[in-house]
Amino acid sequence: MSDLPSSEPTFLDGNAAAGPLRDVFSVDLTSAVGTCAGCGDAGPVGGVRLYSQAPGLVGRCPGCEEVLFTLVRGEQDTFLSMKGFAMLRFPTAG
Ligand SMILES: [Zn+2]
Repeated sequence: MSDLPSSEPTFLDGNAAAGPLRDVFSVDLTSAVGTCAGCGDAGPVGGVRLYSQAPGLVGRCPGCEEVLFTLVRGEQDTFLSMKGFAMLRFPTAG
């Protein structure tokens, strides 16, 4: 054993997350429990206030009106922001 720091990299290439991310994004997230980064309230994603009078969908927290997520689907690209969620919890796909 050596006391010298290991020269092995401590991270993987992001492509190594392909399988786990595919599993996560294949579930119905409306039943996931989301925690609002703004006020800390937690509830099912299906319970957010959804606004569709925009180029896409905007989900807002029913407690504080913070934007939880935006989803815009274009012809070539999809744009998803979920920065209003501090956390999403859902059963692990098995
Ligand atoms: Zn909130």
